[in-house]
Amino acid sequence: MNSVTFAGRHPRPSKIVCVGRNYAAHIEELGNAVPSQSVLFIKPNSAISATLRAVPDTVVHYEGEISFIIQAGHIAGVGFGLDLTKRDLQESLKNAGLPWERAKSFDGAAVFSDFVPFDGDPDGLRLELVINGKTVQAAGGDLMLTRPSALLAEIGANFTLCDGDLVMTGTPRGVGPLTAGDVYEGRIFDGDRLLVAGNWVVE
Ligand code: ZN
Repeated sequence: MNSVTFAGRHPRPSKIVCVGRNYAAHIEELGNAVPSQSVLFIKPNSAISATLRAVPDTVVHYEGEISFIIQAGHIAGVGFGLDLTKRDLQESLKNAGLPWERAKSFDGAAVFSDFVPFDGDPDGLRLELVINGKTVQAAGGDLMLTRPSALLAEIGANFTLCDGDLVMTGTPRGVGPLTAGDVYEGRIFDGDRLLVAGNWVVE
């Protein structure tokens, strides 16, 4: 079982609950319809990775996301997550009305920074993703269709969140393809205060 790093410990999430289409500007960017309830999907433990890897001959998009680690049913910590997506494959699965797992749940499709303890207002968090020194994504709870506190309640009504499980809160606009050698820094802020950052070079 894969693990993540949280406050010096190494919990093993049983699952990652993800939300799609949670930022209006990203829905527009992909030409999707605005959902009437949150679009939820799950990545398995086997998708977790600390390294960021391109997939040969496949368009893999990064999606930077505010991510939470759960304990006792509540948010215990926050980290920066990358929801990697085989975009062309996802498009063809979506168009055929089929599940997305082949495009979203492959090994290495869920990349995380360390998680740090957090007990503030999750709706006030925001993220930045910087690639090769250029900010490509910057947004937070104020731009989400369903903010983290409401999202957690909606998820909890559908799936039991076990200790160590992770929640990814969706990506804002600015997604794009992984290219080997690119340098990534993902940051999570509470207001103006930097809480945690993750650094990767695409392999
Ligand atoms: Zn996503």
